[in-house]
Amino acid sequence: MHVVVIGAGIAGAVSAVELLRDGHEVTILEPGEPGGEQAASYGNGGWLSPSSVLPVGSPGLWQKVPGYLADPLGPLTIRWRYLLKALPWLTRLLTSSSSWDKVRKVSLGLGPLVAGAPGLHAKLAAEAGVPELIHRTGQLYIFPSRKDFLDSAESWTIRRERGVHWIEVDEDELRQREPALDRRYTFALYCEDGGHCSNPGEYVAALVRLAEERGARRVRGTAEGFDIAGGRLKGVRTAGAVIACDAAVIAAGARSRELAHMAGDRVVLETERGYHAVIEGPEVGPRTPVMPSDGKMVHTPMTNGLRIAGQVEIAGLDAAPNWKRAEILRDHALRTWPGLPRDLPAERVKVWMGHRPSTPDGLPCIGRASGCPDVVHAYGHGHIGLASGAMTGRLVADIISGKAPTIDIAPFDPSRFN
Ligand SMILES: Cc1cc2nc3c(=O)[nH]c(=O)nc-3n(C[C@H](O)[C@H](O)[C@H](O)COP(=O)(O)OP(=O)(O)OC[C@H]3O[C@@H](n4cnc5c(N)ncnc54)[C@H](O)[C@@H]3O)c2cc1C
Repeated sequence: MHVVVIGAGIAGAVSAVELLRDGHEVTILEPGEPGGEQAASYGNGGWLSPSSVLPVGSPGLWQKVPGYLADPLGPLTIRWRYLLKALPWLTRLLTSSSSWDKVRKVSLGLGPLVAGAPGLHAKLAAEAGVPELIHRTGQLYIFPSRKDFLDSAESWTIRRERGVHWIEVDEDELRQREPALDRRYTFALYCEDGGHCSNPGEYVAALVRLAEERGARRVRGTAEGFDIAGGRLKGVRTAGAVIACDAAVIAAGARSRELAHMAGDRVVLETERGYHAVIEGPEVGPRTPVMPSDGKMVHTPMTNGLRIAGQVEIAGLDAAPNWKRAEILRDHALRTWPGLPRDLPAERVKVWMGHRPSTPDGLPCIGRASGCPDVVHAYGHGHIGLASGAMTGRLVADIISGKAPTIDIAPFDPSRFN
């Protein structure tokens, strides 16, 4: 079959590689450079985390919403002007995570999607000639004290139920593991199975190069719709042209909603905007990627510096970035790694804002479209799209090739919002 893959972020790039592996002809349709700054896949925190099995929402979240509206610089903020538009997504977010039982159900779907992520990415990166970008050296969740960990015990219980392993790290061992870390952290969990990618943009670009070497055609352009006749796909429409094809994959990240609607599924998809700051040539930093419990962010050693990535801003696709949020990330790094210079010159800090493609229930949309079985959805991975990208691409190929999917895809049914 000739398959058009719409979007060359991690979801599209791996889908293209896996479709070629199954013997299909592939065209990659993307307006920018693969893995470029326009994609969430460029600027994320690089975590490949089998412990990422929880949705963003948790019981009691609704009580915090007034605070999110009041504090424009809080770790999670909702811009007043965007509130009405975000309401359908927000309401579903609150209801779908209103009890630990519901959160547990989501974790059952996410678990298999991320379980083997570091290993799957290591294989793909080796195939693409960039094995050095995937590291399987674990991750540290750091806390001021063991009590702070116990305060979040329920979420860790669910992780344990999903097969996530960790060891507790006391203060002495933490000092040995991370000598540059600020003394306010005295306790950590070490997840040995975790990994990270030290240059996600370059990794995605390498995967697309691999696809092209194996025969994929790359077209610079934007998908605007589908030509469907008698319920079957005839082509993907771009400005002024139609790319004739037998199947298409919607992998346009946070910009997938309109295409999904055109394919017959009224998916609820929002952008959770996030930021990063990269400190180039850091004097000190983490040996292992760390996630501090007192900030919605990760600190990851990357090929181009120390990247601090995180924050959630609900403000839509078009609002201008609020760069103060990237400054918050930089300042958190200065407090976390006291050996970094206080007077860090501005030219040593690079900032970025991007769009997480987020469904309200925390589960991606992967599966055939209701309006046309030849169109396959592959987006909505929110905070864990890099990690889950490897399995997602495999699932897309399974679906199009008519194979039994490698894992159960029922939780990702795109028609669940119809
Ligand atoms: C600050 C931040 C930190 C994060 N940290 C992590 C992390 O540590 N680990 C993790 O697993 N995940 C993380 N994520 C999430 C992860 O980056 C995303 O879930 C993932 O990159 C989404 O990949 P994607 O391929 O679906 O979308 P994208 O990477 O956004 O790619 C979509 C592509 O589609 C193209 N496109 C859009 N519209 C069209 C169209 N109409 N036609 C053709 N092409 C189109 C775009 O140009 C883009 O290149 C983070 C995200 C952010 C913002």
